[in-house]
Amino acid sequence: MPVSRDFGGAGCNGLEFVAAFEALAGTMRSLGFAMAAANQATLIDCIHSMGTREQQIALLPRLLDGEPGATAISERGTGTEIRALQARLTGDKHGYRLNGHKYNISLAPDASIILVAARYDDDARTHTSLVLLDAALPGIVRSGPQGTLGVRDLPIGDLQFDDVPVDRQRVLGAPRDGLKWLMHIASMNRAYFALSCASVVRPFLADALAYAAERKILDVPIDAHQYVQRRLVDVRMRAERSRWMALAALGQWLHGDPDALESCSIAKITAAQDLTQSAIDLLALHGSDGYRYGALSTFVTDALAMVSAGGTEEMHRRNVFAQMQRRRERDMKTAVYTPAVEDTAETSAESA
Ligand SMILES: Cc1cc2nc3c(=O)[nH]c(=O)nc-3n(C[C@H](O)[C@H](O)[C@H](O)COP(=O)(O)OP(=O)(O)OC[C@H]3O[C@@H](n4cnc5c(N)ncnc54)[C@H](O)[C@@H]3O)c2cc1C
Repeated sequence: MPVSRDFGGAGCNGLEFVAAFEALAGTMRSLGFAMAAANQATLIDCIHSMGTREQQIALLPRLLDGEPGATAISERGTGTEIRALQARLTGDKHGYRLNGHKYNISLAPDASIILVAARYDDDARTHTSLVLLDAALPGIVRSGPQGTLGVRDLPIGDLQFDDVPVDRQRVLGAPRDGLKWLMHIASMNRAYFALSCASVVRPFLADALAYAAERKILDVPIDAHQYVQRRLVDVRMRAERSRWMALAALGQWLHGDPDALESCSIAKITAAQDLTQSAIDLLALHGSDGYRYGALSTFVTDALAMVSAGGTEEMHRRNVFAQMQRRRERDMKTAVYTPAVEDTAETSAESA
């Protein structure tokens, strides 16, 4: 939707896409599908807004046509810590070579276009680079789908890169600028994950309301009990607050507000916690019916993916704390001493 018509998109604005995404995630009853849609949208946005014209012409029509993409950041030794990336881009006379691996990557088994974050050593400094690879390039080996507790409709796998030739046109931005862009992409993805958490619970809450009205014990429907009502209200309140935080973070992100980095982390943490708590509340409300294999128990195991997918709670807290420190340092540098009224009177008296 937000891709310009030149590349086969609908030319909508960012907010129209947010509304469509929310409707999709709130209807599909699949967190895995919402995550895949968020990932695909992030990849498309990143090429649309940061790619060269050649990259846009080569890749956007394919992604808009439904070819799945993957964004590969996590590695066995890094996970949460982006600065510890081991996948390495090195220069050669034709461009670059990529070596390393990635793990737990959504859609890795099926993706035809893969965005990879890798380290790039230039002189004495290490940078983060982003490269756009065709999955058919020589040297790329990928696993089949791995067994996971939930999100079974989102195939997750590993990727190995053995001396993959990367010509210069496949690098997104300058090879040294990747970290800035990676944070930009990650923020968007976190906010859409947060919106997914807020939206995906909606149809399950509607089911629970109907269940609580129908399920009777001693001829009394369980929704007559205030404890039961409280569970339902809590699920509703969590979904609302997660939704508004996600929308606020997306609003900041769309307007290029630097505070979006912090807000997107806050949105992701709160929405993931709210979703997992609400999933357990809905399970409890259905009693042993909820524990049978079916849509609700699938939803509960799906919700648990959000504990680590899109970044763990600890990683986001570290990010929020780093932003708090940065803001404090900035405020200290720009602070101007404004004397209180009494001080002014005293000072004037002294000078007089
Ligand atoms: C369903 C799903 C889909 C995913 N899709 C993708 C994808 O498409 N692309 C991608 O790149 N990745 C993807 N991931 C991987 C995901 O981003 C990582 O799982 C996540 O970043 C955590 O990394 P890790 O699993 O290596 O945990 P680790 O980094 O090993 O962390 C283990 C625990 O230690 C804590 N911890 C680690 N370091 C610190 C620290 N310094 N301070 C405090 N606590 C710390 C963590 O918070 C966590 O609780 C996916 C994961 C899942 C579950």
